[in-house]
This record gives sequence, C-alpha cells and structure tokens, in this order.
Amino acid sequence: MAILSILHYPDPRLRGKSLPIPRVDDAICKLVDDMLETMYQAPGIGLAAPQVNVFKRLIVIDISENRQTPLCLINPEIIRKDGIETMEEGCLSVPGIFEPVERAQRIRVKALGRDGKPLDMEVDDVMAVCIQHEIDHLEGKLFVDYLSEMKRQRIRKKLEKQRRQTL
Ligand code: ZN
Repeated sequence: MAILSILHYPDPRLRGKSLPIPRVDDAICKLVDDMLETMYQAPGIGLAAPQVNVFKRLIVIDISENRQTPLCLINPEIIRKDGIETMEEGCLSVPGIFEPVERAQRIRVKALGRDGKPLDMEVDDVMAVCIQHEIDHLEGKLFVDYLSEMKRQRIRKKLEKQRRQTL
C-alpha cells in the first residue's frame, strides 16, 4: 500500500469531473487500499479519488471511532434525499477549515463495493453528510462552494499564505 498525496484548495485540479469506473479490477482495488491508507494516515473520515488526482468515481469513508469500518463506494449515486441538516464540515483538501453546511439529513445511495457487488443503502446524519460531501468531489465541487464568496476568499487567502510558509 502507499500513501498518496492530497491536492489542496485552491488547486484547479480539484475542479475536475470524475468518470465512472467500468470494471472493479485489481488496479481499482489497489487504489481503494491506497486511498484508505491515505485517509487513515491524514487522518480524515472520507476521501474521494479526485483529491489524490485520480478522476474516477470512487470514494472511501470511515466514520467509526475505532477506524476499522471502512466503506468503499464505487460509482455512487444518490437516488433519494430527505430532510435537511446543518453540520460543521471539514475536508482534507481544505486543511484546518471547518464551516457549517446544509445538506440532506437522510439519503439512499446505490454503488458498487470493493468486491464489485452492488450496494443499496439508506443512511442518515454523519454518514449521509459524509457521502454527500465526497460525491460532490466527483463533480469538482467543494464544501467551501456552499459558503459566501467573502468567506471563500478568506479561506483561499489563508491557505495560500500557509502554503507559502511551508515551501
Ligand atoms: Zn472533502
């Protein structure tokens, strides 16, 4: 397994759209494992392939306390949304920033698992928010897009400053 490097906002590559995965083969399974390792090491609770510069429709999530309940969704699709919930979100591509975002409280999602078998699940609260956040990445959308232009500018400047200091 390998730790992949994570793109940071405002890297324009984070705006790229991801393509469906036609077949879950060994290369995809390796990518899933590398993404999980990268997410655990970061540490974060979710990671989408475009965040590691791979434009395929694949996300990994683990919201468990013990960090031993990985969920992998390939070609995920939200087929129903219910309710509204506002939660504070963060993102491995927008380090150190946490802001409230409004999303559906409950969703039904279809996808393929790491074994290539279809999944159909209904989830709510943190898991629902996390899946919506990660699927946004596949469309080139970031949680900061839900914030005001002023707030987004402030975040961009802060991250660019941090970046200059670490170079
Ligand atoms: Zn994110």
